[in-house]
Amino acid sequence: MNLWKRAILHVDMDAFYASVEQLDHPELRGKPILVGGSPESRGVVSAASYEARRYGARSAIPMARAIRLCPQAVVIAPPRMERYREVSDLVFAIFNRVTPLVQPVSLDEAFLDVTGCQRLHGDPVAIARRIRLSIKRETGLTASVGVASCRSVAKIASDLDKPDGLTVISVEETLERLAPLAVSRIWGVGPVAGGKLEKLGVKTIGQLREWPEDALVNVLGVAGSSLYRLARGIDDSPVEPDGEEKSVSHETTFARDVCDLGELETVLLGLAEKVAERLRRRGLAGRTVFIKLRYDDFTTLTRRKTLPAATCLAAAIARHGVELLRDRTAAGKRPVRLVGVGVAGFTDQPAQKVLFRETEQDDARQERLERTADRIREKLGKEAIQRASLKFRG
Ligand SMILES: [Mg+2]
Repeated sequence: MNLWKRAILHVDMDAFYASVEQLDHPELRGKPILVGGSPESRGVVSAASYEARRYGARSAIPMARAIRLCPQAVVIAPPRMERYREVSDLVFAIFNRVTPLVQPVSLDEAFLDVTGCQRLHGDPVAIARRIRLSIKRETGLTASVGVASCRSVAKIASDLDKPDGLTVISVEETLERLAPLAVSRIWGVGPVAGGKLEKLGVKTIGQLREWPEDALVNVLGVAGSSLYRLARGIDDSPVEPDGEEKSVSHETTFARDVCDLGELETVLLGLAEKVAERLRRRGLAGRTVFIKLRYDDFTTLTRRKTLPAATCLAAAIARHGVELLRDRTAAGKRPVRLVGVGVAGFTDQPAQKVLFRETEQDDARQERLERTADRIREKLGKEAIQRASLKFRG
């Protein structure tokens, strides 16, 4: 069996709402269907059947315009969301039988990380085939699946052979397969970025690769940096199941109430370190730092602040946590029985791509330091590095 080091599936139902309508109403099969808001209320198309797409009708355009393009279309307005949700549940139940690592993008689209279930379910291509078969059997509908070693390439792949397609792009093939594709195939490249790239003469992903990273950053800002990587099929963003925690925090309850501000700060530092380690392990970074405090009379409060950029660094979390503690609580004046610190407001960017505007150089060095500490801890156990990694800037 051919085991993949990392295997991500992107599953996308074909013309989902329209297909459900054709499933439930056999007389509509083979006919152009438009599902969405009514033209009178200036509605928008949510889904167009493939028969309607031939005339240029597609989702996200005004319904009135779609009807002009394809006057013979059967219009279904409003959409029967309840029914689509029902079918969607069947589809997601199939995903969940394969792996718990399912990240829904919408009712009809999801990423699956199948890296860890290859021994159980077979190689990723076999898994993709089985999923497509189950969907067809259990719902009567077709799905297109992309198989790759990261999310962005899987997403591109699922779209290459729609409808009812299965496209596999292995790590080895990635550069070659991406090269001839339009840059707009990359998730996140919209008309604005696309226009800027076209001015540079960049139309394909292969042409995009001819540009150095700093040139792309000049033209597109931070996005240029991630484009540089995505054009090379480099994307280690994790598949994050829905309902995942929306914050990462640690707290501690004291055996005896603490009045000393310095003591509280030291404890908070240790907690910040644990928070940062967990953030980095999960590839997360967040823009909100918060603290939790419980006084001796059990009054509990949280204080939060939003940072200019996301962080996954113990030093930054501790710095802002201590600031909140000093400025916005009565710590040091009233006895405290519990203190906690956490990070929320996760950004889509993987932590290592986050830019730190204020103290960029410092933070980059700090991040390297803390990551090295993570690795040593992993190898030698928790006790190997204690506070040494934490360069606290109070
Ligand atoms: Mg779809």
